[in-house]
Amino acid sequence: MNFIRELWEAVIYFLFPPRCPVCKEIVDERYQLCEKCAEKILRLDCSTELPAQIEKVLRVTKYRDGLQPLLHKLKFDNNLDVLPALKKILDDVAENKEVLKLLSGINFAVPVPLHEERFKERGFNQTEKIFEDFLSKKNIPLRKILIRRVATPKLYKFGKKERQEILKGVFAAVEPIDLRGQKILIVDDIFTTGTTVNECAKVLKSLGAEKVSVLALASDFGEKLLEART
Ligand SMILES: [Zn+2]
Repeated sequence: MNFIRELWEAVIYFLFPPRCPVCKEIVDERYQLCEKCAEKILRLDCSTELPAQIEKVLRVTKYRDGLQPLLHKLKFDNNLDVLPALKKILDDVAENKEVLKLLSGINFAVPVPLHEERFKERGFNQTEKIFEDFLSKKNIPLRKILIRRVATPKLYKFGKKERQEILKGVFAAVEPIDLRGQKILIVDDIFTTGTTVNECAKVLKSLGAEKVSVLALASDFGEKLLEART
């Protein structure tokens, strides 16, 4: 039987070889980025102008010319098939020096929450899906202690100032909770201006959080945002 199974696996491998999730080039391992895409997309970038409430930000990949098509499938087509590839990216950087530094001393992680309506539409919070296995392997609990009180418009078309207006007071704690002395990691799928995570951090700090850092899967600076920043 073993022989038959091995033969079957070899046939499958031959007919459907593992392919890079971004460019479809054949690779050695399932869900692995090819060398070219890895080179282009992986950034592990912590050099950003820090939002006021945030201690440190680490962004793992590039969004534009990078993970955009995969994150689009996940968020707008509700297609969970792309998840293993996104999780593999996090697995592959799990022991990176910058990642270890960011996670050191963290008590727990908080996902940027979706508004109830969007959650119902999509059926899941993509950020939780992306990060849950990674955080669990790191023994960092994922606590959904924030809610989004207002269904905000999609933010990608807005610059920093407009985002600040739109997001003011949007986030709140699910229940009164004492966060004194806690070092918290906010996780998010895409980091753009940092306004969203900064608003989340304001709530956490108001509850006593000592330190708030951010880990984002992808980093984006759209043309409009660049304009808005200058
Ligand atoms: Zn590729």
